[in-house]
Amino acid sequence: MSPTDPHATTEPLLSVTGLHKAFGDHEVLRGIDLSVDPGKVLVLIGPSGSGKTTVLRSINGLEIPDAGVVTATDGIRVDYAANPPRKDILALRDRTAMVFQHNNLFPHMTVLENIIEGPVQVKGISKKDATADAVELLGRVGLAEKRDAYPFQLSGGQAQRVGIVRALALKPQLLLFDEPTSALDPELVGEVLAVMKELADEGWTMVVVTHELAFARQVADEVLFMDGGVIVERGAPRDIFTAPKQERTKQFLRRIL
Ligand code: ADP
Repeated sequence: MSPTDPHATTEPLLSVTGLHKAFGDHEVLRGIDLSVDPGKVLVLIGPSGSGKTTVLRSINGLEIPDAGVVTATDGIRVDYAANPPRKDILALRDRTAMVFQHNNLFPHMTVLENIIEGPVQVKGISKKDATADAVELLGRVGLAEKRDAYPFQLSGGQAQRVGIVRALALKPQLLLFDEPTSALDPELVGEVLAVMKELADEGWTMVVVTHELAFARQVADEVLFMDGGVIVERGAPRDIFTAPKQERTKQFLRRIL
């Protein structure tokens, strides 16, 4: 299921340098640098409004940064200060798939139709092959029997798991998760985090924005704490959570833990 062999290369799968983004005169990102190696999980934490979602959206070109360079393996390099060609931004998007806070499933389509829409329409995969793949992926997240259900017939946790399958079906190199459990009732959070942990264990490369610090601690290879559009502190989860160096990190963790 994994698209990457974590031992194949030590080159980052994706790196971002000097990312800047303003909305009007509000500078939301003020120079973000990060990189993620194949098979690794990067977790972004930080207060609401610190710019985490904008980082994710900038990585896959849903948001066009004012400046910054995004580099992916196989030679894609997008320099936003230099008015990059749209085809390069689309090539970046092609390598990623995002799971959103709200699942964004099409309400008038069944689970199966939702999942095969991207592969068939965007990737040009045959309906037969896309369906076979979707059925297999649904089985892996325990939702095989829901293939013909409509989104309104799913629990929030099931809908998010379908959202994850929809992302996987695009065969991205990099999975982006934008607070995928924050809109769920507490009792449904665990089933979604369990699927994400399984993906991490399988070697998927992931960038995850989350407030689930226990998950971050267990699954992240690196944790980045953001505040005010900058990365205040980064490190192994053990270090960030048990011995944060920066006062802002300490304050945030005291509030949230
Ligand atoms: P986080 O994910 O850490 O909560 P966001 O990246 O969503 O932070 O947002 C950072 C800031 O940028 C917030 O103040 C938000 O209101 C603002 N922002 C995000 N998207 C837009 C937009 N499209 N237009 C104007 N302001 C935005």
